[in-house]
Amino acid sequence: MTGTTLRTICVYCGSSIGREASYAEQARLLGTTLARRGYGLVYGGAQIGLMGIIADAVLEAGGKAVGVMPKALLEKEVGHSGLTEFHVVESMHDRKALMAELADGFVALPGGIGTFEELFEIWTWAQLGFHRKPCGLLNVAGYYDHLVAFLDHAAAEGFVKEAQREMLIVAESVDELLARFERYMPPPVAKVIDRQET
Ligand code: AMP
Repeated sequence: MTGTTLRTICVYCGSSIGREASYAEQARLLGTTLARRGYGLVYGGAQIGLMGIIADAVLEAGGKAVGVMPKALLEKEVGHSGLTEFHVVESMHDRKALMAELADGFVALPGGIGTFEELFEIWTWAQLGFHRKPCGLLNVAGYYDHLVAFLDHAAAEGFVKEAQREMLIVAESVDELLARFERYMPPPVAKVIDRQET
């Protein structure tokens, strides 16, 4: 039994391709795997960087790719013209809200500030109990090693609860990531504030 039925996966990833070839390779593999397993993709709608690569891989494998882009970014991020669905929204906030609504799980691939912000926001919403969907990152070529070490440090220092830290799935391969998403069980009650500590 899983906590949520997975049909559509939201992927946050770089609007750049990064330095290592494996970032693009794994973005392509994730896209192909999603399509072959019948999962739809929701993402930021761009044709550039890892964003464009994963969308192309999904479409080439016969899958469904849905983009969500704010008006103001349409030119800058080069909207993908071949998507299954393309939603143009008013603001960044609307973009993230619609992506969150359309998806049943959230994955961060390597990326920059935009990717970090999106991942942290959706993980925050999980710890607050606003949704019960799996959140994780694909640690391609150790890209997120330092972040994961810092998150463990934050937990060890008492600023992140162990249960909250464990909500973020860290996987080293596409297969591991999807297997863990499929069996994800959200914690029964998301505990945000420990009254004894206040
Ligand atoms: P990046 O990881 O910085 O290459 O950006 C990846 C995606 O995140 C792009 O579609 C950006 O438009 C988006 N993005 C950038 N900044 C933000 C932000 N503050 N909030 C939400 N999304 C953002």
